[in-house]
Amino acid sequence: MKCPRCSGDDDRVSDTREVNGGLAIRRRRVCNRCGFRFSTYEEINPDGVVVVKRDGTRQPFDRKKLEQAVKRACGKRPIPSERLRELLDRVVGELKQGEVASDKVAELIMKELYKTDVVAYIRFASVYRKFTDVEQFLAVISEVSEK
Ligand SMILES: [Zn+2]
Repeated sequence: MKCPRCSGDDDRVSDTREVNGGLAIRRRRVCNRCGFRFSTYEEINPDGVVVVKRDGTRQPFDRKKLEQAVKRACGKRPIPSERLRELLDRVVGELKQGEVASDKVAELIMKELYKTDVVAYIRFASVYRKFTDVEQFLAVISEVSEK
């Protein structure tokens, strides 16, 4: 592992633990060269999951892409990155090998965001459902307030 400070590649692991209920692993590391302490996370990335978009195009599932979309929705909201990682871990854990509709992935994200932060949920829904007018926006907001 390269040290982010001195770029040396000699480090030792001082602690390894399961986080997020065993869905991910965090390793605390210490650089043997400069003493810098940092952590790495092993994230779940499912192999062999293909996302089918609405227009029928297919592409391999890409956690990073999904993460970016979720981060955009969560921009400036008080959500720790830890929570976001956990959210993504749970969504990824629901995916099965093979083809999955992008709508399905978005629904999973929305379900998790709803429990996490309603504002982020509404933002994500507005992008995903491509709201074209205020009516649609208000419909989702009233859905949220009824729940
Ligand atoms: Zn170092």
